[in-house]
Amino acid sequence: AQVETLLEVNNIEVIYNSVILVLKGVSLKVPKGGITALLGGNGAGKTTTLKAVSNLLHSERGEVTKGSIKYRNEPVHSSDPAEMVKRGVVQVMEGRHCFEHLTIEENLLTGAYTRSDGKAAIARDLEMVYDYFPRLRERRKSQAGYTSGGEQQMCAIGRALMSRPETILLDEPSMGLAPQLVEQIFEIVKSVNENEGVTFLLAEQNTNVALRFAHYGYILESGRVVMDGPAADLRENQDVKEFYLGMS
Ligand code: ATP
Repeated sequence: AQVETLLEVNNIEVIYNSVILVLKGVSLKVPKGGITALLGGNGAGKTTTLKAVSNLLHSERGEVTKGSIKYRNEPVHSSDPAEMVKRGVVQVMEGRHCFEHLTIEENLLTGAYTRSDGKAAIARDLEMVYDYFPRLRERRKSQAGYTSGGEQQMCAIGRALMSRPETILLDEPSMGLAPQLVEQIFEIVKSVNENEGVTFLLAEQNTNVALRFAHYGYILESGRVVMDGPAADLRENQDVKEFYLGMS
C-alpha cells in the first residue's frame, strides 16, 4: 500500500527583510508515520524551512515568495501558526522555549490549551508524557527555569505532545546536550513515533544521530536540497560519510 504524504513542500523560496534570499527552491515530502530528517550545517536553511511550514516566518520578517506548501493536500501557505496547530502540526523551536517561571507541569498543560476534549483526556495525556519522560514526572513541581537543558528539551517536546499533534516539527533537539542525553531524547522520539503514530520532521546538525533514528533524510546546503534518500542509504554514501559523518 502507498504511504500517504502528509506534508509536501514544493520548490519554495524564502526571503528575509525583502532582500535576503535564504531558501532557493526547497522541495520535500513527509510521509505519514515517518521520521524525516532535515540535515545540513549551520545556516543551511533548516530552521527557515520548518518555520515556513508552521507559518512562523512573519514575525521574523521572512516571506515565502515562490512555491507551495501543502498539508494533507491542502495549501497551508497562508495559514497562521494557530491554524497549523489546529491542523495538527506543532513546532518545537530550537533553544527549547519553556516558560521559565512556570513549573514543568504547568508548561506541559499550556500545550493543551487548544483542546476541548475535557479534563480527563488531558490528565490521561499528562500521564502519557510522564511515562515517556519519567524525569519530567520527578521534576513536575520544579520551576522550568531551574531545570537542566535536557529537562527543558524534554519539557518542550512533552508540551508539543499535549496538543495531540499529528506532526511534530522538531528543531535541533540535540543542541547543547551531552551525547548520552541526545541518545535518550532520540530514543523517546522513536518510541513516540512508533507507539503514538506521531509523524516527525526534524532539523539536525548532528547527522550521525539523526540518520540512525530517521527513516529518510534531506541534506540542505545554502538553501538548496543537495541530496536525499532513505537514511540507511545516506549513511553509506561516500560524500555523506566524508562531509557529514566525519569519516572517509
Ligand atoms: P542553524 O542550525 O544555525 O539554525 P539553519 O540551517 O537552521 O541553521 P537558518 O536558521 O534557516 O539555518 O538560516 C539560514 C540563513 O538565513 C542563515 O544565513 C541566516 O543567517 C539567515 N537568517 C535566518 N533568520 C534570519 C532573519 N530573521 N533575517 C535575516 N536572515 C536570517
